[in-house]
Order: sequence, then structure tokens, then C-alpha cells
Amino acid sequence: MSDFIPLSVPNLKGRELEYVTHAVETEWVSTGGPYVNDFENKIAEYVHAPAAVSCQNGTSGLHLSMLAVGVKAGDLVIVPTLTFIAAVNPVTYIGAEPVFLDCDDSLCMDPEKLKVFCEEECELKDAADLANGSSSNQKVLIHKASGKTVKAVVVVHIFGNMADMEKIMPIADKYGLRVIEDATEAIGTYYTDGIYKGKYAGTIGDIGVYSFNGNKIITTGGGGMVVSEDKEYLDHIKHLSTQAKSDELYYEHDEIGFNYRMTNLQAALGLAQLEQLEAFIKVKNDNKALYKKLLAGFGGELLENRDNIRSNCWFYAYMCKDSDERDRLISHLKEHNIQSRPIWGLISEQKPYKGAISYKIEKAKYYRDRVVNIPCSTNLSENEVEKVCEALKAFKG
Ligand SMILES: *Cc1c(COP(=O)(O)O)cnc(C)c1O
Repeated sequence: MSDFIPLSVPNLKGRELEYVTHAVETEWVSTGGPYVNDFENKIAEYVHAPAAVSCQNGTSGLHLSMLAVGVKAGDLVIVPTLTFIAAVNPVTYIGAEPVFLDCDDSLCMDPEKLKVFCEEECELKDAADLANGSSSNQKVLIHKASGKTVKAVVVVHIFGNMADMEKIMPIADKYGLRVIEDATEAIGTYYTDGIYKGKYAGTIGDIGVYSFNGNKIITTGGGGMVVSEDKEYLDHIKHLSTQAKSDELYYEHDEIGFNYRMTNLQAALGLAQLEQLEAFIKVKNDNKALYKKLLAGFGGELLENRDNIRSNCWFYAYMCKDSDERDRLISHLKEHNIQSRPIWGLISEQKPYKGAISYKIEKAKYYRDRVVNIPCSTNLSENEVEKVCEALKAFKG
């Protein structure tokens, strides 16, 4: 039996041990300590954002982002149905409700359907005209069937691809929607052309969130980071992440906060990982190119990324012809000691979300039935890519 090839595992061969040892030796292991600020600054610098605020994980970063942009209980938030559930659950934590949208062929949110949903299912009203007596002259998007306010949209950059921000941003702008970019899978992805040339995933909407979970391209064990151009959002997020303490000495708290700040130990790991991020992205891209070359030899297919981007190529998406082939392929690979997994189930079909609003979900079902993620770790060798391709070829017969 050949050695096991996992789907996606951490790669800790840089200065991780050195930095973490330093954190332990100096006894800065909790949320204070120099590595946290340093990691925040270096992430901000890397994605060309003015500043960044760390959190315990991507999920908490998304939760705080939604609070910061003003999502409140009873609001609606537009989310994708084909994604990891952590992009959606924070909507529910707040007591708001998701509206599930379809994907396009990039697996990310379909801008066309977003537009038609806003146009046909909703109505743009002046905030001043509404019963709540808001005095602002902002526009508010009201969902006609429920009468609820659509406050924001969560755009997920699936597998390190870029959602179609060129189309999504003008729609959000027109309908007064705040844009939260779930860039948890896409740190390092940026536009190489077009109006957003040079812009990184996570820095185009109002707020962007990264994750450093164990299976992401760089890891802090668990961790997250929020970036924004808007200093008020970031200040508020940092405040909320540290129990909303308004007076350090006398323990005064001016709102309900959370214990969401990253620890110095996590940040130590993160700094060492960030030093290797560009090298990891190169390996992910090189291995994807090798997969594509070898798969082309027998008609296997990986989904492509958007044209005008440099992708971090976090996960590779192999296309099967139907769900039956998908299930047989996953077992076949398992027999060859290769780990793979189907893309997520649709969030709109999960038990807690069965009654939620969904809008014209079609392509998400198609891809849900067909996409299989195949090994993509940054320490995957050429030899291992070849082995995976041999197993895929043997399956095709
Ligand atoms: C990983 C991930 C998250 C959550 O990040 P954690 O750090 O695991 O909390 C959210 N959304 C998507 C799309 C993810 O892949």
C-alpha cells in the first residue's frame, strides 16, 4: 500500500517553532504580546489594506464584521448557498436571516441573480420615509414579501477563486448593501487586470475576512483577520473582540462584546506562516498546472479560475459527470489511500436553514453534485500529484 495522501494539511517548516518558542519563553501566550500587533500589520501590508484586526477564527471575524456594518436582528443578509456554513451562521447569531443565492460557473455568487433579486423581489426606499424614523437620507432595500430590510451581502471567494467583484460592487452600491467579503479561502488572490487591478480579495468590499484554520493556505491553528478601508469599522471590531471594555482600569463596558481576540501564540505561528505564503501560492499554482497537464491526457477536468486574477489556488475542483460518479470516485481514491471530498452540501438545505428564503438555486445544485476536491497541500510532491492522476485515470478506465 502506498503512503496516504491527505486532502489538505498544514506545512510548518519555516520559523514557526522559533517564534512560538519565543512567545513561550517571554511568557506572552495570551491576547497581549508583540506578535499579535506585528501579525496584524504584516497582513495589512501584504493585502495593501490600511490596517487589520485579528480574531480567534474566520467565523468570529465574520460575526464581528456583520455587527460592524450594522446588521441587526430582523434584517436580511444575502449569502451564497454553495459554501461553508460558517459564512452564514453569524447572520443567525445576530438574529438576522439569510437569503440564499445561487452561484455562477466560478462557484461564487451569481451577480446576475443578485441584481434581479434586488430589482424584482425588493424595493429601494428612503430611510427617512420608513416608520423607524431614521433621519438619514440613505436608501434602504426592503424585501417585498417579508417587509424586512436587506442590509448586507456576504460574498465568498470560493476555493481561492475571485467572485465577480466588478459586477457585484456596482449592484451593492446601487441598492445600498454593505459588502462583506468572506476571503477566508482566498488570502493572496488578487486582480491582475481590469478596474480592480492589484486589488486583493478581501479589500474590495466594505470589510474582508481571512481565516487561518488548519486546512487554509496558512494557519495559526485557529485564527482570523479582518481588514477594511474604514477605520471606524476596524476600531469597533477590535472593541467588540475585547469585551467592549471602555475603561481598562475600572472595567466599564459600553456594549455587549466578545472574547474574540487572537493570542500571541497563534500570531507567532501566523507570522512564520505568512513569510512562506508566496512560496505556498507558487506550489499550489504549480501543482494545479501539473494536475491539469496530466488530467488532460485522459479527459479529466479541473475547474478554471477567473481569467484576470492571480489565484492562491487553495483547493482544486475536479468535475465528475454526476453524483453517482462522484461517490464512486471518492471511494475509489480512498482505496488508493488518497483523501478527497465532495464540495459542501447546500446551506439552504441544511436542517437549521430549511425554512429560509432561497432565490432561484440552480447551478449550485449542479456543482454540488459534481465537484470533488483532490489533494492540494503545499507539501504535496510532484510524485504524489502523479499518483493521484494515475488513480483518477484508472477510475476513468
Ligand atoms: C474556513 C471558512 C470559514 C471559517 O473560518 P474559521 O477560521 O474556520 O472559523 C468561513 N467561510 C468559509 C467559506 C471558509 O472556508
